[in-house]
Amino acid sequence: DQHSLSTMLTALDGRGYASYKQLTGSYDLGNLRLSVDKVQVDPFAPPSLMRLRVSRTQAALPAELLSDHHGRVAAGDFLTRAFAARLRTGREEPEDRSAISIGTPGQQVLERTSVLITQDFIEVRIAVSLPAAGRRALGRRAARLLTQTLPRIAQDSLLGAGLDVDALRDHVTLYRDQAGLRSQLTDRGLICFLADGSVLPRRAGDSDHPLEGDVVAFRSPDALRVSFELPSGRTLTGMGVPEGISVIVGGGYHGKSTLLRAIERGVYPHVAGDGREWVITRADAVSIRAEDGRAAAGVDISPFISGLPSGTDTRSFSSTNASGSTSQAANLVEAVEAGASALLIDEDTSATNFMIRDERMRQLIPAEHEPITPFVDRVRPLFTERGISTVLVAGGSGAFFDVADHVIVLQDYTLRDVTAQARQIAMENPTSAHTSAADPPAFAEVAARVPRRGSLRPAKKTKPARSRGRETIQYGPEDVDLAAVTQLVDVAQTEAIAKALDRLAESADGTSDIAGMVTALLEQVEAEGLDSLSTHRGHPGHLARPRAHEIHAAINRCRSLKILDAPVRD
Ligand code: ADP
Ligand code: MG
Repeated sequence: DQHSLSTMLTALDGRGYASYKQLTGSYDLGNLRLSVDKVQVDPFAPPSLMRLRVSRTQAALPAELLSDHHGRVAAGDFLTRAFAARLRTGREEPEDRSAISIGTPGQQVLERTSVLITQDFIEVRIAVSLPAAGRRALGRRAARLLTQTLPRIAQDSLLGAGLDVDALRDHVTLYRDQAGLRSQLTDRGLICFLADGSVLPRRAGDSDHPLEGDVVAFRSPDALRVSFELPSGRTLTGMGVPEGISVIVGGGYHGKSTLLRAIERGVYPHVAGDGREWVITRADAVSIRAEDGRAAAGVDISPFISGLPSGTDTRSFSSTNASGSTSQAANLVEAVEAGASALLIDEDTSATNFMIRDERMRQLIPAEHEPITPFVDRVRPLFTERGISTVLVAGGSGAFFDVADHVIVLQDYTLRDVTAQARQIAMENPTSAHTSAADPPAFAEVAARVPRRGSLRPAKKTKPARSRGRETIQYGPEDVDLAAVTQLVDVAQTEAIAKALDRLAESADGTSDIAGMVTALLEQVEAEGLDSLSTHRGHPGHLARPRAHEIHAAINRCRSLKILDAPVRD
């Protein structure tokens, strides 16, 4: 078989590129089985999709590391990284190695389709750019690539001496410990945990790697110090941010945003050495920011904005170009609809008029002439009525002192609890009452939003949705802009959401609601695996698991979306 593949490819040498098509099929390469699922039509098309399978007995990975879902996710991530590292450093021809890709995992450990581990086999899913000279097939080079380079790299990274079993064990143990800690947060009444010694700052604005050099390691303030016992037996000490309302204050540049950003990323587990591997946040904490210009469809933003001079009904608000405050309100309400139990908000990325209104302005403009009820008046009801906590960065305003359960200050990157002081200041400088127990509930039950039949598919859409980088999904003639969806961290997640959109467009039958559709899709992924998001049999593409919140975020940013019974405006 190895022979026949080699012979076939050699015979293609110098022929038209399209003759590679006949490669489709499966081949035995020693103890590996190569399946060619999809062959590119020309050298500039997306690369060809192939899988390499090895039996579990051949691979001989310690069974106890693969015995649970967490173990398989971590081991799959480990093998993906090992394969990618081997592609960068092998002694094979660089042009052969650079023709092969398995995706590039970042600092987060995500469930991925790049390596599938089952009872019987381990399968590596790769993309291969088949070699060309102009529009001719370079069959001989392809033969070397597929029958020599590729098997050798797979041997080394999956089977041979290149597989570092101790490192694999550490990787799996860390991931299980992180998941174990996260699973205890709710019972302990915590939103997140940051271990003492963590390194939060990043090297640069566009880098997700830890800052080196003059770093102040994280240290928990006495008042919020907690300990966790991990499944491995290890004990960790650090800060637990409790449920309720926590406000982070401090001077500019003292590290507030860095702390909040680490908490925001803590919904995902990070690799050892990242500095944030022991920053663990509830999986359903959602970052909320202003995003002017976004589209919104049928969102009930009336707890925050009502009585617009135009007469617009904000219980079902639609816009093609939302303002700073309305976009932040929509982001918040949609996060609640998607099941968020905690909100993370930074003053740097918030609309001021959404967050606060000061005393003087309250005196000049009476409440009945101000459509916006600022977040400072709603953050308490959000917790008391809906059980949703908030962690907030506010260095520029003491308005939240009255409503905060905890106020912590960052000074020179070091935390201190100043709740008592902040309360004292609030008492000595009273503001007009924000809300009182006598007020009617601020938040109605979130109404289910049902997309109109077909409205989840833009007009004139023919091709499947696909990702273009982390921030964009090309969806027919429209681009879904996810730049402001900051907890989407990997292009493979974006690609998975693109596939999800195509699936959900089909199930938008005019009776199903968004939350129900997303839940059903994720239940299917849970039961059948991440591969099932793809309609292709065999290689599913390079997908990583997104959270429900980011799928919701993509749906909500589709400009074609129309909600049933919501008045259409623009
Ligand atoms: P703030 O939001 O309070 O204005 P930032 O979080 O933006 O401050 O941080 C300001 C700068 O300080 C950033 O360049 C950041 O990388 C750096 N920084 C933050 N935390 C630390 C730390 N613990 N040690 C060293 N530098 C830090
Ligand atoms: Mg900041």
